[in-house]
Amino acid sequence: MSSQPEMRYFSTRGGDETLSFEEAVLTGLAPNGGLYIPTHIPSLPSDWQTRWATLSFPELSHEILSLFIPTDIIPTTDLKQIIDASYSTFRSPLVTPLRQTGADEYVMELWHGPTWAFKDVALQFLGNLFAYFLGRRNAAGADEELTVVGATSGDTGSAAIYGLRSKPSISIFILYPDGRVSPIQLAQMATVPDSNVYVVAVENSDFDACQSIVKTLFSDADFNAKHRLGAINSINWARILAQIVYYFSAYFQLPSEKRDKVQFVVPTGNFGDILAGWFAKKLGLPMRQLVVATNENDILERFFRTGRYAREDAPEENGQAPETAAVNGSSDGQQATPAHSAVKATHSPAMDILLSSNFERLLWYLAHETVVEAGESPEAGRSKAQKTLNDWMSTLKRDGHVDLGEKVKAAAAKDFWAERVSDDETLAEIKRYYQLEQYGPYVVDPHTAVGLAAQARSVKKSADSTWVTLSTAHPAKFSSAVELALESSSSFNFDRDVLPEELRQLESMEKRIFKVQGEQGVRDLIEQVKRGEVHPTKEHAGSI
Ligand SMILES: *Cc1c(COP(=O)(O)O)cnc(C)c1O
Repeated sequence: MSSQPEMRYFSTRGGDETLSFEEAVLTGLAPNGGLYIPTHIPSLPSDWQTRWATLSFPELSHEILSLFIPTDIIPTTDLKQIIDASYSTFRSPLVTPLRQTGADEYVMELWHGPTWAFKDVALQFLGNLFAYFLGRRNAAGADEELTVVGATSGDTGSAAIYGLRSKPSISIFILYPDGRVSPIQLAQMATVPDSNVYVVAVENSDFDACQSIVKTLFSDADFNAKHRLGAINSINWARILAQIVYYFSAYFQLPSEKRDKVQFVVPTGNFGDILAGWFAKKLGLPMRQLVVATNENDILERFFRTGRYAREDAPEENGQAPETAAVNGSSDGQQATPAHSAVKATHSPAMDILLSSNFERLLWYLAHETVVEAGESPEAGRSKAQKTLNDWMSTLKRDGHVDLGEKVKAAAAKDFWAERVSDDETLAEIKRYYQLEQYGPYVVDPHTAVGLAAQARSVKKSADSTWVTLSTAHPAKFSSAVELALESSSSFNFDRDVLPEELRQLESMEKRIFKVQGEQGVRDLIEQVKRGEVHPTKEHAGSI
């Protein structure tokens, strides 16, 4: 067996230096604004199709993750323990089980984790990874504490909280706009009793205001250094890595005659989920293509159709470029959106984005494929792609759009196509699956419905394929859209048909919320907690 080169990570935006896996995970976003990607795509063992076929999800995860994490960074037994701990919290033994919905159609349910949404797959792992690295540093004499601060509009704050609850040397503050998240989403966050968890209601605010407080704190060098702020947003490489595993799991769960012709359909926002599928393909997992399913926030659909990456539909008229959204500081995987942003509020809010932060990683590879010539050294090729990517990103920032040209469009089309799904189609699809005859009824959440609507259209474009649509949330998490779609179905009863007992019970449990005013209120709370003056006890309980 030939040994593979040492795996390191570098920034998409340039610089010769490479980081270890540990450094890349703890750094998150590169100082030059880039995202970390691996120095090479490793090769699979030649017998993976037979040897991995009967592995459990954690075993499979260990095989795949160890291709990217050298054993001198995390020894084998430690990595196995981290993975086992991360997936022992899932309710399904398969972790990400397939459900058949048609003769050649399947849904992969990614929401069997503690918060009933797909972000658990990555955040359970990331939380354990953070705790492992900090614990090891502190055992060696360091005195590091991490203060994770993030904003949520409700959908995914709980996944971050469940990833970090009870972890030593880590505290987590999740900001949300007071009064603006659904009762279930608030209950999921505010019933977590661990003393390192602070659920912070920012009074008289909205998601953008919360997000902007987070951004301000991160860019305050003194505050940031004093409290060692950490973000666990969707650009963290470890999150992508953890998600590669379920594409392999899907492959092995399918009947063998259907495995080699899969089209994966992925409801997409920040492009993390689908990028993991693309890495699976690069590793050598047989699949046909990946279908990018967007809602009405369709920047990606427009890119794959036209080769033009543009924040707005129409070119800017007056030359005034909109501010580029930041990619840091969000635990939601959502981006900061400037006040004048054109992001639309849809029925699938976790996919409401202006720019997809992880898309930059794919763009680097597309740059590499289209500008690097045969025979160039890996280092020269890397820096050429970095330079091209930088040019693209600065054009995007300046003009609000960048034309990547036919070559790039064609390179992207080898692996992807995209479908845009409207709000009306989303509701209609929820209804259609509820009425499925042979394989139903099946109640799906609105994000999954975007994927399924994209699948229904795609089926016509690719005959004789096996379809696997990724289901990203349990329908109970997005009750208003589900009820809206099914209100005319007299047989449907949300509490009876959808709401899991565990979520129902949350409503009557004690909730702990810290109410604050504005940025100063958040700062004061963090300072008080760090000085040991605030303990998350009943005194601070707020009502909802
Ligand atoms: C985050 C999220 C998505 C989008 O995933 P990306 O990795 O950001 O593309 C889709 N559905 C749900 C429910 C989510 O929470």
